[in-house]
Amino acid sequence: MNERTLAIIKPDAMAARRAGAILSMIEEAGFRIRAMRLMRLTRAQAEGFYAVHREKPFFDSLCRFMTEGPVIVMVLEGEGAIQRWRELMGPTDPAKAPEGTVRKLYGTNIERNAVHGSDGPDTARFEVSYFFPGVELVE
Ligand code: ATP
Ligand code: MG
Repeated sequence: MNERTLAIIKPDAMAARRAGAILSMIEEAGFRIRAMRLMRLTRAQAEGFYAVHREKPFFDSLCRFMTEGPVIVMVLEGEGAIQRWRELMGPTDPAKAPEGTVRKLYGTNIERNAVHGSDGPDTARFEVSYFFPGVELVE
């Protein structure tokens, strides 16, 4: 099924100048990039985006991390894009990530893990409209 998912290159990977390498991985894996923004999240934007994690002990630290520098936010499209992007990212903890995944290559620890991906169709719909409200995605 042709799907759309939201991807973020997080502030750690941006600061380490890995954005180009990660974009290459995305292109080589066959995703189509339908929208892209370079932005610095406000605290309110980070809190709203990660609202499902509000009660978690790492929430404050996560929001500080996500606002510490610019990020690249993207809509990726392709067959099974949600699951395929999660597989290319690897698991949340880079220490557990298989060889060749983005988080294995560029993640530092369970918080500073280089990239984000939507975890299901409902989340993807919410997250795409969170950063690209009313935007016509490029065909
Ligand atoms: P993401 O939603 O960013 O794609 P994920 O779905 O793999 O990552 P979630 O459980 O949704 O993981 O957690 C969201 C983010 O919160 C993680 O990517 C990571 O940056 C941070 N995080 C998750 N678990 C922890 C933890 N135990 N300690 C610190 N930070 C964490
Ligand atoms: Mg998640």
